[in-house]
Amino acid sequence: MDYSFHKRILVTGGAGFLGSHLCDRLLKEGHEVICVDNFFTGTKENILPLMESNRFEWIRHDITEPLMLEVDEIYNLACPASPPHYQHDPIHTMKTSFLGAYNMLGLAKRTGAKVFQASTSECYGDPQVHPQPESYWGNVNPIGIRSCYDEGKRCAETLFFDYHRQHGLEIKVARIFNTYGPNMHPKDGRVVSNFVIQALKGEDITVYGDGRQTRSFCYVDDLIEGFVRLMNSDKQITGPVNLGNPGEFTMIELAELIIEMTGSSSKLVNKPLPQDDPKQRRPDIATAKRDLGWEPSVPLKEGLVKTIAYFDGLVKKGLA
Ligand code: NAD
Ligand code: UDP
Repeated sequence: MDYSFHKRILVTGGAGFLGSHLCDRLLKEGHEVICVDNFFTGTKENILPLMESNRFEWIRHDITEPLMLEVDEIYNLACPASPPHYQHDPIHTMKTSFLGAYNMLGLAKRTGAKVFQASTSECYGDPQVHPQPESYWGNVNPIGIRSCYDEGKRCAETLFFDYHRQHGLEIKVARIFNTYGPNMHPKDGRVVSNFVIQALKGEDITVYGDGRQTRSFCYVDDLIEGFVRLMNSDKQITGPVNLGNPGEFTMIELAELIIEMTGSSSKLVNKPLPQDDPKQRRPDIATAKRDLGWEPSVPLKEGLVKTIAYFDGLVKKGLA
């Protein structure tokens, strides 16, 4: 891979959890980075350290509106990712997924930029094939409370592939599985942030349903390495490519590990399982291994050490 040529790179959703890590990585590689964000779930704190670089710019903008910029590459990450956040204004989530993708593809078409889409394992819905390979078409409810996100992301994938076929755009589609790490929003309601903050505060750990549903958790640094490898891969590699850690855990196992690691006295309490909550999820990463030479290297326990330290800092400052 040749990282020596410095580019101007747009990151939508750059003030969010994954976006802020990606901007940091791209700046470290010497690129110029433009972060576009409407700050719905992202924060200025996430990008504050990046503002020291004169190669970093940020713009408050909603990607449902067109954007005129000159760029070499686009990473389209803008979209709320946690169920409570994407369900807060489901129509806007759908607009962000579709119109956002449409606007970024339009920008890529005009500028000739390569364009990356942050798609999701939610494309597989509540999967009946396990683990999930990219060839699986999924089991998605089109009219449920998760559909604004799941179907929005599926529709965005369709649009990416139509721009690729119809206009020859160079596209890179990643299907991201549950990822965690520093810069996650403390109130975004995702399981890792919830459990860690509850454990640190000695509050009850809220396990939804019987806690036997599974997820596979990828540490953010591993994921960002996958993003960059996919963007820099050969032209014919379009994806979709699963990016995630195949280690699979039940929510009870996750809760118990976090209690042990934080030395917390918190107890598990069961809460109702949200509608359409997938029962199992684990990526088949054979494609990423073959095409990108990528696989995650950070085990859950190691990633949790850094994540717990991050949230501990927020709790001590009264910010979580
Ligand atoms: P996040 O909520 O922390 O970040 C999303 C960012 O997009 C935020 O900064 C938010 O303010 C911004 N945003 C939302 N709507 C926007 C709009 N209309 N215009 C401009 N900015 C907007 O979430 P994240 O975890 O960093 O996720 C980033 C991307 O990765 C999302 O597209 C998400 O669907 C995808 N993804 C993430 C995961 C994960 O586990 N973190 C899993 C699958 C897919
Ligand atoms: N979950 C939980 N307690 C929480 C938050 C989430 O048990 O406080 C469960 C949730 O029901 C789901 C899993 O954890 O089964 C992962 O949820 P998350 O919102 O992190 O991601 P997603 O469902 O989108 O994979």
